Amino acid sequence: MLSTLSGDKSAWPVYMSVGNLAKEKRRAVKSNGLILLGILPKIPKNPARETTRRTFHEAIRQMLRPFESSGREGVDIVCADGYTRKIFSRIATWIADYPEMVTLTLVKSMWCPRCKCIPDNLSALTGTPSTPRDPVRYAQMSVEELEAVGQWRFDFDNFAVHHAHCNIYHAINPDRLHQLLKGVLKDHTWKWVCAYLTQEHGPHVMERIDQRFAEIPPFSDLKNFGHKFSQISQWTGAEYKHMLKV
Ligand SMILES: [Zn+2]
Repeated sequence: MLSTLSGDKSAWPVYMSVGNLAKEKRRAVKSNGLILLGILPKIPKNPARETTRRTFHEAIRQMLRPFESSGREGVDIVCADGYTRKIFSRIATWIADYPEMVTLTLVKSMWCPRCKCIPDNLSALTGTPSTPRDPVRYAQMSVEELEAVGQWRFDFDNFAVHHAHCNIYHAINPDRLHQLLKGVLKDHTWKWVCAYLTQEHGPHVMERIDQRFAEIPPFSDLKNFGHKFSQISQWTGAEYKHMLKV
């Protein structure tokens, strides 16, 4: 997540949480359910791909280094009930948007970071799940074999290989804002619907769509977009959700 700091600077803060917290607790601002682990520098535009990837993986490796040994050998932790227990840490999940997932998993852009489906032929997937990515197998594959599954090989390791039982491809999850609301709803479904309606009803159909959005009767927690629906330029998560409800 890119954050803007004072003095026109921006950076990527990396936050961490533990898996056994209730969602409501974790998300509450004052619960300290998320801690700031570190801040990644913003990498200048258009440097070599390998340089950006290497910087990212080396920085994350530094931040997570204590967990490499706690994952393998365990570490004594004083729990809330006062007892000390030996715990083995695991990287369970990683929340990121698609470009960050690409950097995290070192897959090629446009490829799926979880499985080996072919980017320009997703329809080939009807019914059968595509093979999940497997870092253990990838470590033994040649550059040509990796090429065929959209995976880069660089001369540095993915930070995740240093963590016990961590399959980084399984740790990533869909991101609701970018992938469902923006991706599936706005960039795919909405474009498809507009193209279809324009073809059926001619070029002025957008005015009719604006009209329909404006005619939505008032209802609790439902936004009325007025006559300007098609002219919204700044889309936020809230707007996507209101559009979906309408
Ligand atoms: Zn996939």
